Amino acid sequence: MIRVPFYLFTFARSMNVKKKDIRALTKEQLRAFFEENGDKSFRGNQVYEWLWVKGAHSFEDMTNISKATRKMLEDNFVINHIRVDQMQRSKDGTIKNAVRLHDGLIVESVLIPTPTRTTACVSSQVGCSLDCKFCATARLKRMRNLNPDEIYDQVVAIDRESRLYYNRPLSNIVFMGMGEPLMNYNNVLKAIDKITASEGLGMSPKRITVSTSGVPKIIKKMADDEVRFKLAVSLHSAIDEVRTSIMPFNETFPLSDLKDALEYWYEKTKSRITYEYVVWDGINDRAEDIEALIKFCSYVPCKVNLIEYNPIDDGEFQQASSKAIDSYIKGLESRGIVVNVRRSRGKDIDAACGQLANKS
Ligand code: SAH
Repeated sequence: MIRVPFYLFTFARSMNVKKKDIRALTKEQLRAFFEENGDKSFRGNQVYEWLWVKGAHSFEDMTNISKATRKMLEDNFVINHIRVDQMQRSKDGTIKNAVRLHDGLIVESVLIPTPTRTTACVSSQVGCSLDCKFCATARLKRMRNLNPDEIYDQVVAIDRESRLYYNRPLSNIVFMGMGEPLMNYNNVLKAIDKITASEGLGMSPKRITVSTSGVPKIIKKMADDEVRFKLAVSLHSAIDEVRTSIMPFNETFPLSDLKDALEYWYEKTKSRITYEYVVWDGINDRAEDIEALIKFCSYVPCKVNLIEYNPIDDGEFQQASSKAIDSYIKGLESRGIVVNVRRSRGKDIDAACGQLANKS
């Protein structure tokens, strides 16, 4: 066995660390890189296509690029692809991927099939910046934001699985996996740009929903940016006191600020908002909770999704009785508010809303 001196190892490692993830470059930056290195800028287009349309995992794959150029790329860059480490399949057809990132951290994403569509539920952060008491991911704390390509790769992986197992491409995307997408807004936006670009997956932004606990400043920024995807807000209570007790960050971003931001959003985008809402026993199942929600719904055009609670632990939270949920439905419908009851999917493999915490 040949012994390699330790300093050479660390040297090699530090060299590696200096290599940039090539997918962090825009097409223009790639074109400029080739020009600066005495090649044609057109080479940048070819490499970009390999990376984003053909999904190359290594420079070796880029067969219409000369060996010397591939070597030059290898010397300067890395391609940090995600790896699906483990795939679990629920008895209802839901698939959960444990996705390993280049630095060894793991996030989860979920494929949810229905008779007519396949939805990808993707993560935007490792862990989460927020502290919702009823959510398993919140217990992990935020470890880091995902890069645009790490978000994009989750979608590509689910698109592949959808074609393989359900014979159809992915049709919808929801940012309801791990993390708070608006706390990683720039990268989420870049990922969505790639997902919707013709040199990416070419998906319509109308089939993408970004779900947030409600960060007013960023909701306004999204409106200013004229984004075309849909917005869902995890409301869970329209009474500050109650909301703060289950979603403590509501203290910093109270409902009045959220209301302002949502009015601004609707004024600019004319896009109806979805409120996600779980009804818990003894927490938000009173008549005044329903009245407060009805009032909140009067501010901007919206619909309400009543989500089933997915227990995560010791029983501090319990799904309210069906009688309480019926009262919500009746109350909302009597005022002309659209309400859907959403059943959980993939519960048996911990793939349902709020259960993503990478138990393995
Ligand atoms: N941070 C974003 C997206 C991730 S959470 C957000 O808050 O919207 C995705 C959805 O799952 C949110 O509506 C959230 O409130 C809901 N959720 C979290 N924990 C849950 C649980 N245990 N049962 C049901 N829904 C849950």
